[in-house]
Amino acid sequence: MKISVIGAGLAGAEAANYFANRGVKVALYDIKPNAFTPAHKSEKFAELVCSNSLKSNDMFGNAAGLLKEELRLLGSITMEAAERTKVPAGGALAVNREEFSAYITEKIKANSNIEFISEEIKEVPTDGLTIIATGPLTTAPLAESIRGVAGALYFYDASAPIVSADSIDMESAFKGDRYGKGDGDHINCPMNKEEYDAFYDALISAERATLHEFEKSDVFEGCMPVEVMAARGRDTLRFGPLKPAGLDNPKTGRWAYATLQLRKEDKAGTMYNMVGFQTNLKFGEQKRVFSMIPALKNAEFLRYGVMHRNAFIDAPKSLNPDFSLKVRPNIFIAGQLSGVEGYVESAGAGLLAAIYAYRKLNGEKEILISDNTVLGALARYITTENKNFQPMNANFGILPPLPVRDKKEKKRCMAERSLAAVKEFINEIN
Ligand SMILES: Cc1cc2nc3c(=O)[nH]c(=O)nc-3n(C[C@H](O)[C@H](O)[C@H](O)COP(=O)(O)OP(=O)(O)OC[C@H]3O[C@@H](n4cnc5c(N)ncnc54)[C@H](O)[C@@H]3O)c2cc1C
Repeated sequence: MKISVIGAGLAGAEAANYFANRGVKVALYDIKPNAFTPAHKSEKFAELVCSNSLKSNDMFGNAAGLLKEELRLLGSITMEAAERTKVPAGGALAVNREEFSAYITEKIKANSNIEFISEEIKEVPTDGLTIIATGPLTTAPLAESIRGVAGALYFYDASAPIVSADSIDMESAFKGDRYGKGDGDHINCPMNKEEYDAFYDALISAERATLHEFEKSDVFEGCMPVEVMAARGRDTLRFGPLKPAGLDNPKTGRWAYATLQLRKEDKAGTMYNMVGFQTNLKFGEQKRVFSMIPALKNAEFLRYGVMHRNAFIDAPKSLNPDFSLKVRPNIFIAGQLSGVEGYVESAGAGLLAAIYAYRKLNGEKEILISDNTVLGALARYITTENKNFQPMNANFGILPPLPVRDKKEKKRCMAERSLAAVKEFINEIN
């Protein structure tokens, strides 16, 4: 048995390692070291292109921490490498990036079942089981080929922040659609003139994230960040994403001075998206400034807004729940390209795709990991119908809700439920 893995990044390394450790011969392709994407610089695999932090390590209080523990249980090489190369970073798991990539590269290269080939793959293969994990900077020819096969592939991510439903202050908000047209699903967050002015001043002076050189020219072409729109004039937002017209506040019977609309992000209504608020502000600044909107004063930000270069497919339309392409079930799309966001999420998607693909290769029945796990919830999120699909990171909002009032206790219960489900999954697949 032989399979191909394209891309030796976080997801590809996970996938190749999983197969090879089960005796499957793997042809692992990467353009490195002959060529590099604009962000990759190292000859090593699983390169961390930006921060050296893998985010929180707190499994009971943070979904990113819980995802890490799930991956440890599943035997992730990313987590193994992180454990051995970690550097002090408070509650986060940060690594020495050189040692981290070196550890993974050595393990992959020492595995006799893996043959590494430095080559740019330009087309989606037609035969054989293949995992494509070429990441957010997939080279143009392959990206075009994937687009042709999968139906859609986006090159930029312009996402608005997402907040958890139970953190919205409904005393300061009201439900309803503009001019009453719709299912009444939106949550509206009104501001009076004083509140708007304070918010506006904070927004236009807030600190923006630095773009990489290769992103500067084209990231904002189709989609303007809210802070850039605001800078055009004090009232511009009141005719755009903060337009109050048609939104009668039941408390006053009038339209407010400015109103932000929040749109349901998932069917369960546990997450809400800030409509029209794609932004390039630094994450801390998003929390500071957007929390000035009265209904968001205690908002829990499940995903911050981002605007960056990022290749990803329209997973809800093109992927099966096991990460295989609907139109070509022998091709699996893993990592950031599948529509997850973040180092550990990408590694996790690589590992899970490999677990599923390995079962398929062996003719075994499909067993999906429970949605009660962060990994399973991410997979379900990206493969569930969603006409406003944007990549998703680990957060508690994507997990099925639990009827526990205390937030800390709820997260702890969700974590316990998740870890039990991962253990059950491991028993089932073995
Ligand atoms: C500039 C930038 C900064 C980021 N910063 C962070 C951060 O700080 N924290 C975070 O959590 N996430 C960050 N991300 C998001 C994301 O989590 C990482 O990009 C992550 O590395 C994605 O993992 P991956 O395995 O899907 O892809 P990658 O790790 O990018 O691996 C893809 C591999 O495929 C190779 N490749 C590409 N095209 C081809 C081809 N046609 N043929 C053969 N090989 C190919 C590449 O050389 C690369 O080695 C960042 C993304 C970008 C673009």
